[in-house]
Amino acid sequence: MRNHSKKIIIAIDGKASTGKTTLAKRLAKHYSYAHIDTGAMYRAVTFYALKHYRKANHQIDMPRLIENIHNIHIEFKIDSFKQRCLLNGIDVDDQIRSIDVSDFVSLVSTYSPVRTYLVSLQQKIGQKKAIVMEGRDIGTVVFPKAECKIYLTANPEIRAKRRYRELIQLGHQTDFNVVLKNVIKRDYIDQSRKHSPLTKASDAIQIDVSDLNAEQVYLKSKKIVDQKL
Ligand code: C5P
Repeated sequence: MRNHSKKIIIAIDGKASTGKTTLAKRLAKHYSYAHIDTGAMYRAVTFYALKHYRKANHQIDMPRLIENIHNIHIEFKIDSFKQRCLLNGIDVDDQIRSIDVSDFVSLVSTYSPVRTYLVSLQQKIGQKKAIVMEGRDIGTVVFPKAECKIYLTANPEIRAKRRYRELIQLGHQTDFNVVLKNVIKRDYIDQSRKHSPLTKASDAIQIDVSDLNAEQVYLKSKKIVDQKL
């Protein structure tokens, strides 16, 4: 017998554009849990950095960003059933998905002061449990004791196609090959960084979503979650 009043942490990690957000949203809705997209938090920090500390020659002044990191306040609000990311009170949810932000976000995410700041915020948000949190290090670093851990993976071309479609729908002008390169580059940086690299937690259940549609991924994941309740 499943105990649906039991409150747990569902950690969803995986590579870029594997459908973590789609899955996390559906699970959160089904279990009436909160949903936190930690990628949006790293994107919001990067958006702020590009706005305030962009240098010539395609670089960010990281020491200045780190010095001022506590001026960055990130919150989420629900607007017409959609979760929107607020940066210092302003809705930046669409802007943080741009290719420009995607180009820099993995680099910004390699810096340990950025991670420490966001991880402590994520732990605070999740302390009451009943949450689906998605990212790269949720099951390994943010909530290593999460009751349920799912790790999504898929081949890069399929992920780039998904991302390309999303960007076009959001009205961003881009090219498929640019998106594919970005996905491969982000995976590489995320997996090889020194601080909390992207890796599957030993107790996470891996789902390869390459040949699955969103419904199939959801049903498989729901089964996994139900076993933990
Ligand atoms: O999830 P999304 O692809 O939007 O995340 C953007 C980037 O933020 C990732 O490529 C990764 O570099 C970084 N990230 C991270 N740790 C997380 C979530 C995202 O380093 N928990």
